[in-house]
Amino acid sequence: SIANLADPSLFREQAYIAGEWMASASGKTLSVTNPATGETIGTIPACTAAETQRAIEAADRAQGKWKTSSPGERADILMAWYDLILANIDDLALIMTVEQGKPLAEARGEVKYGASFLKWFAEEARRINGAVITPNQKDRRVLTVKQPVGTTAAITPWNFPNAMITRKCGPAFAAGCSMVLKPSELTPYSALALAVLGERAGLPKGLFSLVTGDAKEIGPELTSSPIVRKLSFTGSTHVGALLMRQSAGTIKRLSLELGGNAPFIVFDDADLETAVAGALASKFRNAGQTCVCANRIFVQDGIHDRFVARMKEEVAKFKVGNGLEDGVTMGPLINEAAVKKVRDHVEDALSKGAICVSAPLEINGNFVTPVVLEGVTTDMRVFSEETFGPLMPIFKFSDEAEAIRKANDTPFGLASYFFTSDMARAWRVGEALEYGMVGVNTGLVSMESAPFGGVKQSGLGREGGAEGIDEFLEVKAMHMAGL
Ligand code: ADP
Repeated sequence: SIANLADPSLFREQAYIAGEWMASASGKTLSVTNPATGETIGTIPACTAAETQRAIEAADRAQGKWKTSSPGERADILMAWYDLILANIDDLALIMTVEQGKPLAEARGEVKYGASFLKWFAEEARRINGAVITPNQKDRRVLTVKQPVGTTAAITPWNFPNAMITRKCGPAFAAGCSMVLKPSELTPYSALALAVLGERAGLPKGLFSLVTGDAKEIGPELTSSPIVRKLSFTGSTHVGALLMRQSAGTIKRLSLELGGNAPFIVFDDADLETAVAGALASKFRNAGQTCVCANRIFVQDGIHDRFVARMKEEVAKFKVGNGLEDGVTMGPLINEAAVKKVRDHVEDALSKGAICVSAPLEINGNFVTPVVLEGVTTDMRVFSEETFGPLMPIFKFSDEAEAIRKANDTPFGLASYFFTSDMARAWRVGEALEYGMVGVNTGLVSMESAPFGGVKQSGLGREGGAEGIDEFLEVKAMHMAGL
């Protein structure tokens, strides 16, 4: 439990506003629950609209100075933060497992992955370069310079309580921006622990504020503020659309990482074991609660039965339980609503003729067992809705064109995956999939050095990669005339 932290000061039940750790003047708090045990871990302040405004004003003042710092100065602070995160990885992982549920080994993995964005963007801070353009006018040259967007806001989800923060604030601070962030009310302690370490690393007062509490109180302050020039959000498409509407009045720049409905296609010519390993990694990571989790598994008829048999074997090996216990490979789902969605999707598919090839779904509190269904068809809910849980629905297909058509038959376009050993097919299918990310013979598409993001209703913008910092930069054209 939290009592086992090596550094208890990493566990904060306060908001962090304008460089001060504080309760809310409202006197109100929200409690935070351990999804594995149902126990209350602690509380967080329910910050008010006025407190959100204070954070925004402080961020604006801090940004005024930060934008004049050198890339090297900014990089040094980000690298100090990176080092502190890795030095405290055990505590950060413990906090994450207690509030989010994922097994400790996965939590450690996320902390490392999260930290990698700070290092990457510390490096990118040194490469914020413009260009010299030679227009069709003899007496003129045009220079472009890239400058920070300014004061920014972020709203982050509970499924990656650490990495969804670092991949927003890392590029923001590297670019010379400030940030006011509202972490998920379900997993605020990972965010607050990061802020403790950021303060120790030397982030200037006010540059980074964490406003905890109720989204409906805080969100509109962030979206309607003319000081906030940009909003970066990760979460559901529904809330993303709402934030986009709310941001229209101030024409904010937006980065939106929204829902997915990832296809995972296994062709007859795939290497079976590579596809099996990819499916396990993509489908069951974080108990299926990621926006890039394989949601629809399409398997060609020639390899179908062998793939299903191998999935059945592998899924039986999962050990579901409290992520703090040794040997547990799948933690609980985040809450009752998440459990209900898995149950509904399984029941819907079974009622329409799908067959359960794994052990049947077992539910115990927030714990659900992984389930593999075959004979799944496009009229079932799992075809059009993201399950966000450990349900693997297998659709059989016969030709490539059919697989591509079904894969693209969704308003979403975040991650996609396919497995083949035919190079021509790899290019053909890779280019035909209407997705922001395509995994070819891999089930993992997230890393700090590659752009992550979606097309269609999966969002706007990219995080990570060289593109990630551009989200926090404006391009200015300077026309040098009279030459
Ligand atoms: P999920 O379905 O993954 O919980 P949400 O989109 O509901 O995704 O939540 C992601 C983040 O958005 C969380 O920090 C949550 O508090 C926040 N959020 C939810 N509703 C709103 C809202 N109306 N305005 C602003 N933020 C919101």
